[in-house]
Amino acid sequence: MKKKEVIVLKFGGSSVANPEKIKYVAERVKSFADMGYKPVVVVSAPGDTTDDLIKEAAGISANPHVREMDMLLATGEQKTIALLAMALWDMGQKVVSFTGHQLEIITDGNFSNARIKSVSSAKLVEALKKGFVAVVAGFQGISLKGEITTLGRGGSDLTAIAIASVLNARCKIFTDVEGIFTANPKVYARAKKIDIISYDEMLEMASAGAGVMQARAVELAKNRNVSFEVACTFSRKKGTIICGEDKLLEKLVVRSVTEDRDQAKINVSGVPDRPGIAADIFEALSDKNICVDMIIQSSAKSSPESGTPVNDISFTVKRSELNRARKILGAVRKKMRLRDILVKENIAKVSIVGSGMKTHSGVAARLFRVLAKNKINIEMISTSEIKISCVIDEKNTAKAVKVIAKEFKL
Ligand code: ASP
Ligand code: MG
Repeated sequence: MKKKEVIVLKFGGSSVANPEKIKYVAERVKSFADMGYKPVVVVSAPGDTTDDLIKEAAGISANPHVREMDMLLATGEQKTIALLAMALWDMGQKVVSFTGHQLEIITDGNFSNARIKSVSSAKLVEALKKGFVAVVAGFQGISLKGEITTLGRGGSDLTAIAIASVLNARCKIFTDVEGIFTANPKVYARAKKIDIISYDEMLEMASAGAGVMQARAVELAKNRNVSFEVACTFSRKKGTIICGEDKLLEKLVVRSVTEDRDQAKINVSGVPDRPGIAADIFEALSDKNICVDMIIQSSAKSSPESGTPVNDISFTVKRSELNRARKILGAVRKKMRLRDILVKENIAKVSIVGSGMKTHSGVAARLFRVLAKNKINIEMISTSEIKISCVIDEKNTAKAVKVIAKEFKL
């Protein structure tokens, strides 16, 4: 280790859920300072605080004002920074806490899902120079108009990566698991911890449902080439390094399998086969910030009613957003005279990810075969260069993960 190296340490909500845990985190931070590092600590709100605040808002208003919602949510992290700083002072460690506003983490004005525009390093550098540990509230910033904003759920990861990027510092993301695994250990007990993985693989895994990191944070890490480690707060074991693909010694064809149960399928039938209709449907959804994941359009056939060509379009949304999507589509259906909108809730998406897929053939066939052998029907398929996802019946999720993990020796 270089003496006096700046290091960004991020601790998630579960790591600071109660006073004992906050004190434990303070000890870990202190141990980094004692080793000669200059820690910048980014923290989340304690435990389920953010969810609780959202519920509290729902108890007041059915449709909370967006500005006031961010005003509310930002308080969770503000609580943690103060408590952690107090714990560090008690250990004799000089420390100063900062809100996003105080640090000038400038964002756009998009409440609840703001993008970071810039982070000023001046105050951090000054504090570190004087021997202080800096404790920073994750997940929040300030817009150019001076409004408090938040960075999307899980946004403390984004804060940590952004700060590591401007300070050109090493970054460790501490959480309640020991790193990134080849499969969800709760589903597949023999899953192994991955030592090193590329940004792209991690990004695909995050979007495929591996809940360890915010996908936007991984994206930023990739764009700024900030390699980082995901490790467990409560153990001293090495975690998983996430870095550029050029640093990987071997590119595995299949690195991991992930499952995502927060999925629902919508099938729109009788969609007139002419330019602009798909755009209208998906614009209506995106206008209301509903993310659509997989999309499949069948080839046109003629409508039994009118004889004109029509399509079926199926796509998936988050189950938690299904009701909103349904309402929006109901309105679209009337306007565009679509035949039917069918919904299936009990689905799940299983995905395999691996950067070696780019140069290997036959991976998809092997995946489909192992599912077939186990009588698991595939309802939808989508692929990227390094990922294959299948939508299946939710009740088969655990079985699918297990047989896939075995097939690809994960
Ligand atoms: N507290 C925020 C959330 O729960 C941000 C974070 O935890 O990273 O989404
Ligand atoms: Mg959280």
